[in-house]
Amino acid sequence: MKCEKEPYEAVIGLEIHARLATNTKLFCGDYNRFGDTPNSLISEISLAHPGTLPFLNKKAVSFAVKMGIACHCDITDTTYFARKNYFYPDLPKGYQVTQHISPICKNGYVPIRIENEIKDIFLNRIHLEEDAGKSLHDLDDKFSCLDFNRAGTPLIEIVTEPVLHSAEEAYQFLSEIRRLVKWLDICDGNMEEGSLRCDANISIRPKGSKKLGVKVEVKNLNSLRFVKKAIQVEINRLIELAKKNQQIIQETRSYDATSNTTFPMRDKESADDYRYFPEPDLPPVKINEGFFSDLKKSMPELPSQKEKRYCNEYKLPLLDAERLCAEKQVACYFDEAVKYSTNYKALANLITGPLMQYLHEQKSDFSNPVLPANKLEEIVQLIDENKINFSIAASKLLPFLMTHQNEDVLVAATREGWLQINDTDELEKWIQMVLDRMPDKVKQYQQGKKGLIGLMMGEVKKISKGKADPVITIKLLEEKLTKSN
Ligand code: ADP
Ligand code: MG
Repeated sequence: MKCEKEPYEAVIGLEIHARLATNTKLFCGDYNRFGDTPNSLISEISLAHPGTLPFLNKKAVSFAVKMGIACHCDITDTTYFARKNYFYPDLPKGYQVTQHISPICKNGYVPIRIENEIKDIFLNRIHLEEDAGKSLHDLDDKFSCLDFNRAGTPLIEIVTEPVLHSAEEAYQFLSEIRRLVKWLDICDGNMEEGSLRCDANISIRPKGSKKLGVKVEVKNLNSLRFVKKAIQVEINRLIELAKKNQQIIQETRSYDATSNTTFPMRDKESADDYRYFPEPDLPPVKINEGFFSDLKKSMPELPSQKEKRYCNEYKLPLLDAERLCAEKQVACYFDEAVKYSTNYKALANLITGPLMQYLHEQKSDFSNPVLPANKLEEIVQLIDENKINFSIAASKLLPFLMTHQNEDVLVAATREGWLQINDTDELEKWIQMVLDRMPDKVKQYQQGKKGLIGLMMGEVKKISKGKADPVITIKLLEEKLTKSN
């Protein structure tokens, strides 16, 4: 929300962790999966037994590079890992293997749409690192429990420059990152399961100032909605402090969704505490030209490019393009459908309306086979030829075809009685019924209130249960009203 009188400007930088959807962990062959029996995916390497050595997962490297390409980053040709030392019970090695001064991707930007304009959000880096295990504090009264299944699973950390200025911008950016990682099939984007996690760094400064204020980091936001809410309450809290001339201290806070407040977790360690040094057990990683160009070739058309193309090439309204590109499978289905029909708008309407609704009701989605695209085209053709109206096609024909995929579209619609009625006798009968019911309106129409024809059409539509052919009906209605004048 923008408040012009507000003398402060919020500054936000996000650190987003995305768990890469590789089969195995970053440095060993243990499975990388969520939800298994605790401590069932752990070899000596995950547990950091003395003498074990890490072995880099090439797939994870390729996923990181793909994300870097999608975010217009510079890809570092020789990159190496570093140890970030800290002690935590769920970190078996006592350090995390991450990247420090040579992240695999640098700079770059991600365009987001904010208040109908495109804004490029600049990135600082994307680096590879391993995740820690998990401490479970509420399983037992006396003890904390440790699950090491997650220890060593591959993450990319996407770090923005401090260039976001509202909770809404942060929300849009994170949504775009989520869409991108899912689009590239490198992360499932599931925030509830922690596949995508976000820390928000927030500060405020007087409007017009270029200097950054003291930042507060709000950690572990595990839903898109909470990210937006947490950032907004934190901005408000900082502004309140500033207004009261109270000092803002650099600290790490947590967000409590129930009370919609943030509370302090700990003072921020300074970066030096981590005693970073190059990981001696892993050689530097060279991204050679062949590896890079193969990945570049394998890149799909990105969602923002697709949106642009749908608007330019198919003349779709932006809203339709956005709905179709919200998920790759939907966009791919649309791409398949346009091979059969050039009525792009009708295809988009059917897909984003009734088809999505149907799948939603069936608790299904576009990852399962949906209606063959040529059947969708046949429905569109019936609509185009005025043989069926859109709402019956949407509410009856389409759901029917979903469960009777081998049926001929026209035969089914005819047999079930869903086609429009253009038989003049039948239509005239209905028109007469309507006119008889509203003699006053007929008189008013004849005295010049031509708009009333819409009301009469509506009534005919009702009586015919939506099946009266609108083009013929309106013609007959006009004739009748003029004749009886
Ligand atoms: P740290 O070492 O504490 O993690 P970094 O300098 O690496 O800090 O920055 C982490 C994130 O915080 C980045 O996204 C960065 O853009 C953001 N950031 C840094 N300083 C500020 C600030 N003063 N206000 C808001 N965000 C900031
Ligand atoms: Mg940080």
